[in-house]
Amino acid sequence: MGSIQALRGTRDILPGEIGYWQQVESIARSILGRAAYQEIRTPLFEQTALFERGIGEATDVVGKEMYTFKDRGDRSVTLRPEGTAGVVRAFIEHGLAAQGGVQRLWYAGPMFRYERPQAGRQRQFHQIGVELLGSPSPRADAEVIAIAADILRTLGLKNLHLNLNSIGSPDDRQHYREALVDYLTPFKNDLDPDSQDRLSRNPLRILDSKDERTQEILQAAPNILERLNPDSKTRFEQVQQLLTNLGISYEINPRLVRGLDYYTHTVFEIQSDDLGAQATVCAGGRYDGLVAQLGGPDTPAVGWAIGLERLILLIQQLQQDISPKVDFYLVSKGEKAEAQALVLANTLRQQGFIVELDLSGSAFGKQFKRADRSGAAACLILGDSEAANETVQLKWLATGAQEAIAQSALTTMTEQLRQQLAH
Ligand code: ATP
Ligand code: MG
Repeated sequence: MGSIQALRGTRDILPGEIGYWQQVESIARSILGRAAYQEIRTPLFEQTALFERGIGEATDVVGKEMYTFKDRGDRSVTLRPEGTAGVVRAFIEHGLAAQGGVQRLWYAGPMFRYERPQAGRQRQFHQIGVELLGSPSPRADAEVIAIAADILRTLGLKNLHLNLNSIGSPDDRQHYREALVDYLTPFKNDLDPDSQDRLSRNPLRILDSKDERTQEILQAAPNILERLNPDSKTRFEQVQQLLTNLGISYEINPRLVRGLDYYTHTVFEIQSDDLGAQATVCAGGRYDGLVAQLGGPDTPAVGWAIGLERLILLIQQLQQDISPKVDFYLVSKGEKAEAQALVLANTLRQQGFIVELDLSGSAFGKQFKRADRSGAAACLILGDSEAANETVQLKWLATGAQEAIAQSALTTMTEQLRQQLAH
């Protein structure tokens, strides 16, 4: 019988890779904490209606990418394809709006979309995202963008571009939609099949088409930025000015629309030159209508999500393995020595050292080979004679220097060991 494998579009994150994930999570967590964002954890599955209403029935996500099934109680349930809808549901359900002022929230975790798997595109993937609820100010837009930029900068990423656009108020968007449909309808038969389909359902999404002929036709299409009402226009200029003040460069891209229905005004994406086709690492925008649309009080909001798989592909191009180095590899042989080694390992761990204990009971030679491979800074050796007089051999693996130390002394010279380990 064949062995069972992970489902297509899902991946195991193995120990060799986990250091990158932990680094991203810890940097994001600390930057978000310093900006006074608080973590929220919402369920991985929700009522299907939440996503239908929140994301929009005409979107690709709802139309063809959701994992939707009936549970045993015959309810329609969907694995979350993104984070915002669940966060907004929780915000409404727990009356977080009533607490007044703004809510700054972040989340991290797996999302599920039935897509064609390829590099940087999976069926279970991970996002870190923020939602700033309760402020209509352009400063809120600039704040969330600055935080994303800070996370990516701190991770050492280069060759990134911030693409910025405004799709205006819902009215602006509606007017633009009509203008775009008027313009495209005469070319309908020349558009790629997906775009033909979108012409009636979700015409703004046609701007995203990768098809060459469609892009040619779009060259002369109406520009959304020329159709914003004066307020929307001023608002967009303010966002740009604030980003300039923050030293964040951007490119305006009037073709940038986001796939989800709920966006208003600012939309943005951060793309990398080093990712090939799946270039967008961070995407977001303002969604002033969503909270009300999901039954909550009128609440302006802005947020983004970073795709972690893509981010980690980039970091792996930059850095070698970053998993923490073992301080001590503990080698022992003989009943008494093995028992003492376990206690010694435990004591050193309590003092904050990273200690790997060899459990094999094999010959010293084999254990030493494993010590070398472990990448440990030093090896601690316990044989029968060390066990008898309660000492231990401390061997620095880089130089081969070795000395005998009383076990009790080793556990009290913590500071000195730390300094030696730091070299
Ligand atoms: P794309 O155009 O690449 O499909 P999207 O517009 O569907 O992206 P969002 O819903 O805005 O993406 O999600 C934000 C980010 O999450 C994306 O920019 C990307 O980095 C990541 N992401 C989205 N879908 C996937 C996926 N299937 N696999 C891996 N990462 C993804
Ligand atoms: Mg997508």
